[in-house]
Parts: sequence; C-alpha cells; structure tokens
Amino acid sequence: MPSTLSDSTARVAHVSSPLISLRSVDAGYRNSTVLHDVTLSVSRDSFTGIVGPSGAGKTTLLRLLLGSMKPQRGVIDRAARLPVSYVPQLETVDWNFPATVSECVLMSRAARRVPWASRAERGEVAAVLDRLGIGDLGERHIRELSGGQQQRMFLARALIRKPQLLLLDEPTSGVDISTRHAVLHLLADLHADGMGIVLTTHDLNGIAAHLPHLVCVNKHIVAEGTPEEVITPDVLEETFGAQMEVLQHLGMLVVVDPGGPRRMVS
Ligand code: ADP
Repeated sequence: MPSTLSDSTARVAHVSSPLISLRSVDAGYRNSTVLHDVTLSVSRDSFTGIVGPSGAGKTTLLRLLLGSMKPQRGVIDRAARLPVSYVPQLETVDWNFPATVSECVLMSRAARRVPWASRAERGEVAAVLDRLGIGDLGERHIRELSGGQQQRMFLARALIRKPQLLLLDEPTSGVDISTRHAVLHLLADLHADGMGIVLTTHDLNGIAAHLPHLVCVNKHIVAEGTPEEVITPDVLEETFGAQMEVLQHLGMLVVVDPGGPRRMVS
C-alpha cells in the first residue's frame, strides 16, 4: 500500500504553483480562536493528510481551504475560479433525504439551472459511478447504502464537479478495512491524474502512515513533512498530548499507543 501511494505521487513529475496559500492565519468561531498562526500551501501535487486529535482544528482548516470560512487574521490567497470539492464526514449527513444515488450526484453539479438532466449529464453520472465501482447502484435510495457505498457516493458528488482540489473530512471513519484500502487507492489514482488531495484523519496507522505528506495540527501546525519526518514520539506527543512509541515493521511506521484513559488513536 505505501509504495503504491508513493509511486502515484512520483508520477506527478512537475511541481505545481500553489492553488491556495494561508499565511499567518488565525481562525475560529465567534470570539474564540481555534487555529493560530497557520502558514500552509496546497497545490495539485498535494496528497496531504491533516493529522490531529478530535477538536484540534482539522475540519476548521478544511473550511478555510474550501473558502466557507474567513480568517480572523492573516491572508488566504487562492487561484482564480478554482474548482474545489468537499467530501463531508458520513456522520454529519441526513440519510433520510429522499433521493437515489444518481439524483444525489446530479444535484451536486455547480450552476444547475433546470430540474432535469440531459442525456449527456446522465452519461457523466453513470461514468463516475462506474469509476467508483457503484455503477449498478444509481437507482438505489441513499438510505439503503452500506458505509463504503455511501463514501463512494460522496466521492461521486465531488468528482462530477471536476475539481482541481479535493478536500475530504475523515474519509475512512466508520468504514471497514477493505473499503479503507479501496478509498486510499482511489484517491492515489485521482492524485496520479493530477488532482490535489487534502484529507483529515486521526488514524495514524491506517491512513496517515500511507500518505506522502502530513501536517500535524493541534490548534497550530506542530510539524509538516513526510511520515518518516513527522511520525516521531516528540511530534506525536505535542500533537496528541500522549506518549506513543514508533516502531518499524516490514518497512512501515507503526505507532503504538500504550493505552489507558488518554488513548487517542484507533
Ligand atoms: P477537529 O476536526 O480536529 O475535530 P474542529 O475544527 O471540528 O476540530 O473543531 C475545533 C474546535 O472548534 C472545537 O473546539 C469545536 O468545538 C469548535 N467548533 C467547530 N465547529 C464549530 C462551529 N460551527 N461553531 C462553534 N465552534 C465550532
């Protein structure tokens, strides 16, 4: 798995200019500041995991990248007319919304003016669903999907907008291991096709260790770099507030959490 994701990164040979740059950004809600002094750039070359414990400000950072939230201080520069898609956490979705998979994907298109879809649009939806391995589920009600199928449906909604940058909030929480592998490989393929990808995760062994680039966040950026550079006991303690051991196993980094009441990684 890690070699596959790294290989896909290596295939993107050029270094792109930033799509979005945050400089000395503070951000938060009402009178409270959640993120302090964040400086970060993302480009089409990014395949980045934002890592940190619950409440660290990971989703807030995604909202800043998406543009749905303004900074309290600092500057955010973004490329003009940048198509960015966002895949929310599955837990935040109302699954009783009365729609089929195809309808849900169609509704996600930008600037949709008519309530029906053309043959070309239906063809596009079918192609995206096929690519995600759910081509046979177009007419199924979204309530009747498994966790892995729900995740693919949200990816389809994101991809139909042809984004240059894809943002995903905890894309593998609540899905089984084989779906987690499938989602990671799919994201690696999209990245190899030239799409920037930024995702949040608190899963160090299952996700973060497999990505080429990590940003460790706990109210500020604690460290940024490859897994080998940032998955260290010191960075993990500052990020998660807990002591953890880091081992090498078959060429992979493995984080061991001694456990107890302060246990934070799954
Ligand atoms: P994470 O994604 O790392 O779990 P979040 O960015 O969701 O962290 O949240 C960081 C902090 O901001 C938390 O204390 C959370 O309660 C607060 N927060 C998040 N969203 C809102 C909101 N819409 N209004 C007020 N506070 C919020």
